[in-house]
Order: sequence, then structure tokens, then C-alpha cells
Amino acid sequence: MKLNLFTASMSIFVAASLSVTTVPVIAQSNYDSQFVDYPTYPGDDLELKVDAAGTHFRLWSPKAQDVVVNLYDNGHTGSAFSTLPMKFDAATGTWTASVPEKLYGKYYTFKVKHDGKWLAETPGVWAKAVGVNGKRAAIIDFSKTNPEGWSADKGPEVKNFSDVIVYEMHHRDMSMHPSSGIANKGKFLALTETGTTTPEGEKTGIDHLKELGVTHVHILPSYDYNSVDETNLQNNTYNWGYDPQNYNAPEGSYSTNPSDPSTRVREMKEMVKALHDAGIGVVMDVVYNHTAENDGSNFELTVPGYYHRHWDDGRYSDASGCGNETASERKQMRDYIINSVKYWAKEYHIDGFRFDLMAIHDTETMNEVAEELKKINPSMFVYGEGWTAGDSPLAKDRRALKENVSKMTDIAVFSDDLRDAIKGHYTDAADRGFATGKPGLEETVKIGIVAATDHPQVNFAKGNNSKFPYAKSPEMIVNYVSCHDDLCLTDKLRKSMSGEPEKNKLDAAKLAQTIVFTSQGTPFMFAGEEVFRDKKGVHNSYKSSDSINAIDWSNKARYREHFDYYKDLIKLRKEHPAFRMASAADIARHLVFDKIDSEKTPNLISYSLKDHANGDAWKEIKVIFNGASKPQTVNVKKGKWGVVAKDGKFTEPDNAPLFPGGKIELAPYSALILRIQ
Ligand code: CA
Repeated sequence: MKLNLFTASMSIFVAASLSVTTVPVIAQSNYDSQFVDYPTYPGDDLELKVDAAGTHFRLWSPKAQDVVVNLYDNGHTGSAFSTLPMKFDAATGTWTASVPEKLYGKYYTFKVKHDGKWLAETPGVWAKAVGVNGKRAAIIDFSKTNPEGWSADKGPEVKNFSDVIVYEMHHRDMSMHPSSGIANKGKFLALTETGTTTPEGEKTGIDHLKELGVTHVHILPSYDYNSVDETNLQNNTYNWGYDPQNYNAPEGSYSTNPSDPSTRVREMKEMVKALHDAGIGVVMDVVYNHTAENDGSNFELTVPGYYHRHWDDGRYSDASGCGNETASERKQMRDYIINSVKYWAKEYHIDGFRFDLMAIHDTETMNEVAEELKKINPSMFVYGEGWTAGDSPLAKDRRALKENVSKMTDIAVFSDDLRDAIKGHYTDAADRGFATGKPGLEETVKIGIVAATDHPQVNFAKGNNSKFPYAKSPEMIVNYVSCHDDLCLTDKLRKSMSGEPEKNKLDAAKLAQTIVFTSQGTPFMFAGEEVFRDKKGVHNSYKSSDSINAIDWSNKARYREHFDYYKDLIKLRKEHPAFRMASAADIARHLVFDKIDSEKTPNLISYSLKDHANGDAWKEIKVIFNGASKPQTVNVKKGKWGVVAKDGKFTEPDNAPLFPGGKIELAPYSALILRIQ
């Protein structure tokens, strides 16, 4: 409707977007000025509350001309058994209705009249339980959804973000393959099953995670998303879930019965509880930056125009690349994001949040998010993608960009610097990186090693991506070499190293992850890479079938040595605080690079973690990477060195071979780790 009013020619659009980029910081766009007199509602009890006095509805929609609430017996079929008129409260911009009964087991939708037209029905933006496919909100008794022992349930304590080791996984990837031995394939309950194994007898599921030693799983979107038809699960439709529909209810296809609104709630909690009992925290991937639909989104059907950003000509702006972007700088949207993550933290005991395209949000919102979450759980870990997927009306200096991470507190960003430097650029499958023999990326790898903090020996001007030390602390950086996006590590290595033997690719994978896990900051890995999983070369597998996405767990026996290397690497990091320094000053003081002329000897980096760095039991740790396709020799100063890892193998920790210093050769694509006790 608004769009028709503002139908603009391209030239007007260009002029409008130019004016956006030249207006002073925090100036209001013409579009935003219409919301100046919108009252906001500060409470966290919007839309539905059930108490001793009955069932109460309260929808925030300040410019609606009328609102009704429809009540249903069923989650997706049949007509309303009652339609309640709602009363407007101008002070808060909310519409209210109450009934004296507790309507547990019933469903509801709102209908909003705006600009003389009744909009389509919506479950609202605060539905915490929904019917199948999320079209109607459900009224359930949450106290009956808690697993046994829930009140004492707690995630792992985190003193410093650098102590966290993140394992990014999709529910179906983890369990769908027949080799998983898991009964509840593709479900939240998959991670509650213990004692599951592959046909070869290797541990899978939660036992596998414990064996590997990661501290946190990061679950891909698990709120109710749009793309999978929950009434037709036998179709086995796969989707990553970056198409949000109901932000505050779990996705139905991951439950054993999407038609029963309580089941998905209970089963997700059971998953969290099982992980917590195993000492593993749960990070949820959240996508507040856009909605699956534009005009048909629940945001638009409750308060048209408000929750999304638009250009001044009235068109949706699209920094998400998915058709729209939300407007975190507007009070009610900011509160929405904050209240939503608080709700997941409190009701589901979620331990951390990964913000998709975080730079679509403003830094002020992200700071409030972290501050509020820390009040609930001091171990809360918040990080995100410090970039957008397109231009935005939000001024650059307000965006939660990677380059602005130092304007934020208790928020970390992904280091795409290290990611692309290690394995080659993500946009070019054939491109190689430091760990696969491409010269010239040494300085960018060093930026990753020091977690993008200011370091006297790192020249940021020579970095491939960011040109200044953007992180004030290693706690602001998540280091990784791959994630669900783009080619997974195995596929990237197979494409960029085609023609080389498989062993070289396995060696390069080990080297790549060794760089990540020994670097300062928080390490992050993509599920299954510890068993050399692939995705058959598909780089954007968001809706590919399980045959592409499911991890073949028989790989664990096939690549057992590879898995053991990952396990040892994680153990090394957990046992040695030198890899997990907490401040930039400590890194500058204790992390010392050896002088190597990268022009003459490319693909070689050597550094020491000195003087019991961060209270480490070891006096000095030497870390050397050879990313070349040939062996390279380094000269290590004399000392009573013990060999921790060499040529793709860890040694027995109590029985490390001794090395007196001097010349030592590194195999192609390998890391050498030495220590002085
Ligand atoms: Ca859904």
C-alpha cells in the first residue's frame, strides 16, 4: 500500500540513496520521521499473558484503526469460535482484550485494520508457542514443558570468551545419515541420545561431542522458520532456516510432533538439558536482521512500515540480501530484539547468541543486548557477522560492523581476515591460501594469530582485508576457517588442491585448524570437519538435500587419525591458557614472532608464547606453520624443547621427544609445536 504511494523512478531512488549517505550522522531520514510520535510499550508481556484472572491479550500497534483477536480450537484448520474486540490504550499504543478463563489448549490470531483496510491474520510478533506451520499462536502452560531437573539446569561457566570452543551444527547434518545410529534423526531429541555409535563402533551424537571436547555447540536457526512444510515432514525438506517466521517459538520440523505446540518447546529444552548435563553450552543462531516475507511478515501485519527499514522513496531497503532488513534503531524494534534474546536465555537456558548479519543492527542495540544478557547469565557469549549483505539506510558508523567492534562491549565478531588468508578467498573455489601454498598472506594470518589486536610486530597495512587493529581485546574475535556458508573446508581443499594426493588435503586441513586453534581469540569450527566431512562440492547448501548436508559418520573410522588430531588440538588449547590470553597487552607482551623474510621464505610463520603466558605451566611454547607444498627448515634457538606436535601428529604428552634446538624440518602443509617446561 505504502509502496504504491511512493512508486518512484530510478532517478528519484538514486537521489534518495545519495541523500542518505550524505546526511549527518544519526540524522533522521524522511522515512523515519513518521515514527516520532509512536508511543512505545516497555513491558515484556506483550500479546499474551495467562494468570489467575484469565487470559490477556495486548498487541502493540499504535496507528491501527481497529484490532480484533480470533480464538481457535485448532492450530491451523477450522474457523474462529470467538472474535474479541480490542480496546486501544493511546499512552502505550497497545490494544487489549481479556477473558476470565485460562485458555490453555486454544489458539489465537490478531487482525489489524490499517489505512481503512483489514490486514491478513497474524499470530503477532510475540507468539511463544505456535500451531503447525506457525500461522496461529498457541496458548500453552509453559510450566508443564520443563524436563525433570530443569530448575537446577545450568550451562558451563565461562570466565573469558577465549576459553570457549564453538562447534557450529545443523540438527539434520548431525543425525540424518544412517551411520549416525541415532533414532530421532533430524530432531532436537537427537542430542539427548547417549550410547549411539556408527556401524564401525565409533561414538556419535552427544557422546561424539564429549569425546571431541568442544565447550559449546552453536545450533543453526532453531526458532520457527518459514521454508519447511511442517504438515508434510515425510518429504524430508532441508533448510538452514535463515528465513524467520516466529522468532520466539522453536521450529516445528525439529520436534517429533509439530502439531502439538508444547512438544517442540519441551523437546528443545530436553536437548539443552542433555547438552548442559554433558558440560556443553548452547549458542543459538538468531536472525533478527530480516524476515522471510516482506508485506506478509508478522511485523508488517501488526505495525505496517515500522519494524523494517525503507529508503526515503518508501521501498524496503535490503541490507540482508533477502528482500528486507529490520530497524533496530527504532525503540520498539530494539526492545523486541533485547526481550527476545532475554526470553530464550531465561525460558530455554540458552548460553549464547550468534547474530546473523549483525551489522544490520546498530552498535547501541548490540551493547544493550550483551548488557542485558550478562545480567541473566554472566557466562553469556554473544558474537556475530560484522558485515551486511547490501547497503543500508543506517549510517556506517552506527552499524555493528567488524570495524566498529571496539565500540561494543562483550560482543565478538568473526575474523574473515584469518578465514580467507588460511584457505583462499571464499568467492573463488580455486584460490589457495597460506595453508595451501599461496605466498603473500603471512601478514594477514598474523593478524588472525593476534586476534586483530594492536601488536608491535604486525603490520596491518599489509593485511588483505582490514587495515587496522580493529579489536581492543582478543575477546572480540572469533577465529575460523570455515562455517555453514560457502565451501566447507574439505570441499575447498579438494577444489583448490585438485591434482594433489588426498594426503596433502588432509594435511592442509590439519594445518588450517591448527592455525585457528592456536590463535588468540575464540576458535570456531564447522561440524563434521573433524571427520573430514564434505558437501559434495556444494557451496550454498541451504536447501540441498540430506544427501549433500548430512554428515557421513562412517568417516570417523575412515579418518580416525584426523579426528584424533582435532581432539588433541582441542585438548592442547584447553590445557594451555597461553593460547587463550585475555588482553591485547598480554598478547603484545607474550606473543613474539620470529623474524622470517616472507619474500624469501613464504608460507612460513614462527612465533613463541613466552614467560608462562597467561599463567601457562609451560615456560615457552613455539608454534611454527609451514603452508608450503615442500618441506621447509627453521632454526630454533637452543633449549630443552619437547616436541608437542610435528608433521601432522601429536606426541604422547608425558613422553614428548626432546629436541635441543637448531635446524628442524617441517613436512609440507604442517605445523610444529614445541615447548619448554
Ligand atoms: Ca516452521
